[in-house]
Amino acid sequence: MISKEPSAVPTPAERVDELLGGFQATQALHAAAKLGVFDVLRDESKTSDEIAVAVGAHEPSLRRLLRFLGTIGALVEDGYGRFAATPMGELLRSDHPASARPWAILYGSPAIWRTYGELYESVLSGQPAFERVHGAPFFEYLERNQEDASVFNAAMTSGGSPSAILDAYDFSSFAKIVDVGGGQGALLQAILEQYPHATGVLYDLPSVIAQASAITDVTVAARRQVVAGDMFQSIPTGCDAYLLKRIIHDWSDAEAIQILRNCRQAMSDQGRILLIEQIIQPSHQSSATTSADLNMLVLVSGRERTEKEFRDLLASAGLELTRVIPAGGRSVIEAVPA
Ligand code: SAH
Repeated sequence: MISKEPSAVPTPAERVDELLGGFQATQALHAAAKLGVFDVLRDESKTSDEIAVAVGAHEPSLRRLLRFLGTIGALVEDGYGRFAATPMGELLRSDHPASARPWAILYGSPAIWRTYGELYESVLSGQPAFERVHGAPFFEYLERNQEDASVFNAAMTSGGSPSAILDAYDFSSFAKIVDVGGGQGALLQAILEQYPHATGVLYDLPSVIAQASAITDVTVAARRQVVAGDMFQSIPTGCDAYLLKRIIHDWSDAEAIQILRNCRQAMSDQGRILLIEQIIQPSHQSSATTSADLNMLVLVSGRERTEKEFRDLLASAGLELTRVIPAGGRSVIEAVPA
């Protein structure tokens, strides 16, 4: 099914064609992941008839989608009309430990997909396309659209990589930790599991708190409190560590400073702030960072930032950056009251 040798270096013209067809790859992976195609291929290869029955799709059309997925390397077809998932396709199964299915569902969903149709407008105006397309700022829209919110929250949870943060940073000196904008709570839960003496507060908007993940271990659950609120209005007081993972990048400088000031007011003089973000390295542009930055451009009013930009934002909120610790593709940016 593969049209050329995988090792062949594409010509510039081939590369342009491939990239311009990226929209098809996104939607093909989205449609197949949403239908559950990769889930039904979990244990054995299947014909397109069998897959169509299992996922409830129109067989002749599904067959065309499966053929396309073969040419982009997500499926292989044997000589007998049976399709199997490649290692890439397996990543789109719901039960894969590193499943990318929540991201395939998110990226092809109207909240992201229709917004990206207006990237051009964002570049002209400097305004997030999201509001033009969906009529409300991103997080307000999610508050009112539970289905989209579930898709977004699931992607955040699946891409959160708490283990990289636990490996990178020692939380043992904190008795009480708040995760501000902590989503469904995967990071806080992992911290509480590893540090049995710590207690934690999961803080997020009401609709997100309503979808906080249940903790089955009662000794961990007893140490977690969930609080719904708006971080622009108030932030839980009296904690030793204020975690903000993938929060500051969602906001303009003025909004980010407001959030950091609110944290500064809520914390004691001995408290610490821990931002967990990607950092733009001027000498090396990583595609993960430039891609996240475009998301910030079209979806919200934020941006990815350099270390100096984080240092300056923190200083404007009365905080001093003390350390930057690499954690997987992100960094833990530690700050204390100035
Ligand atoms: N920290 C999580 C989620 C990041 S997504 C993680 O890294 O996986 C950004 C989070 O900020 C979302 O959960 C969103 O609901 C929350 N958020 C947005 N606006 C907020 C506000 N005004 N107050 C509190 N939380 C907010």
